[in-house]
Amino acid sequence: MEEPILIVDDEEKIRTMLRGIFQDEGFRTLEADSGEEVLDLVAKWHPRLVLLDIWMPHVDGIALLEQLQARDPELPVIVISGHGTIETAVRATQLGAVDFLEKPFSLDTLLRSVQRALGKEPRHATAAQIAAAADADIPAGHAPRKIPARTIRQSVVVHGRGLHSGVRTGIILHPLSPGSGIVFGPLSSDMMIPATVEYVQSTGYATSLYREGAGVKTVEHLLSALHGYGITNLLIKMQGEVPILDGSALEFCQLLDSAGSVEQDEEVEALSVDRTYQVGDHSAGKFLRIEPSEQLEIDYCLEYPEPVGRQEFHYVQRDADSYRETIAPARTFGFLKEIEALEEMGLANGGRLNNCLVIGEHGILNPPLRFEDELVRHKILDLLGDLYLLGQPIRGKVTAYRTGHGDNIALLRAIREEQAPHAPAPKTASALQ
Ligand code: ZN
Repeated sequence: MEEPILIVDDEEKIRTMLRGIFQDEGFRTLEADSGEEVLDLVAKWHPRLVLLDIWMPHVDGIALLEQLQARDPELPVIVISGHGTIETAVRATQLGAVDFLEKPFSLDTLLRSVQRALGKEPRHATAAQIAAAADADIPAGHAPRKIPARTIRQSVVVHGRGLHSGVRTGIILHPLSPGSGIVFGPLSSDMMIPATVEYVQSTGYATSLYREGAGVKTVEHLLSALHGYGITNLLIKMQGEVPILDGSALEFCQLLDSAGSVEQDEEVEALSVDRTYQVGDHSAGKFLRIEPSEQLEIDYCLEYPEPVGRQEFHYVQRDADSYRETIAPARTFGFLKEIEALEEMGLANGGRLNNCLVIGEHGILNPPLRFEDELVRHKILDLLGDLYLLGQPIRGKVTAYRTGHGDNIALLRAIREEQAPHAPAPKTASALQ
């Protein structure tokens, strides 16, 4: 007989509900409402999965999770909570929890999480497959039209502050199965928000996604790193705003390096633009254009009054290493005057001198620069993040002159109007208490 699922919750009503759900799905269940009982039941029955309510009277849920993981690091534990904060979620993930669900959650959310926890690890590419891929008939300098789907090997977390809200926040990255795409899961909501242009709502100073009242802000630097690393399936749990960290994508790269990545049993087709698309023009003082090319390449030119002047950079998308070295370290920048205005509007609260290059009347106020042309490289970093909102890799030659998030999104919408739209978003069921 298969090992049971252990449900740990002090509320009988919740245990009864969960028991019913799991039994309908063909699982055996065990229940516990106190800490000592949990350890005894685990020792005796070797459950295949533990569902642990972290907020129970007289039980330190975090300490219990720690004890469970110390005894058996392979035992999957899904943490559930009625008063979750991103801090608790991050702490639970650091201690080895495979997922963190905020009550109320839907039946769909619960079952998806259980399937993920019980599912097989994504398949690792064998040496033979890697050799075969290397031998594939790809003309020199041309990127393949189809790339292997890729997720991360293990869940990872990072803490920080939001640039615009200044609020302490964090993100948790979880592997996802083939066909899932990049999906944001706001912690305080049951909603899943696919990282696609259909959900973009605000592009003022950052790119933000919204779906039926739930939102995630400032997603572009994280998406840029995922684009650079070729990650195609990933769940990002977070609350409010993606942390700004040092203003670049470097820490996201380090996070992805620490998670490791795995190729999956699926191929993702790159979208090759069939003609030239353009937003703006010379007379408007800014433009963004994409034209057919076998690879993704970006020519960016920015021009500001002195002390910045003109900066140009040409980037060709190759692999994670070249992204990490040439683009990822370039930090967000802002002009002192604009930052003062943003602060008055209550934005840029997290923007301190350590996560944003500040340009004053006579030059950079907080040197040293990481590159002579750090500003234009950051514009390419942003563009790579926004382009990933197509929901699939893109091939084309991009030429940009003085453009920002709003132009990037307008270009994506123009492409989307003519080329096949992304698959519809996953449905969510009504919430259960
Ligand atoms: Zn940026």
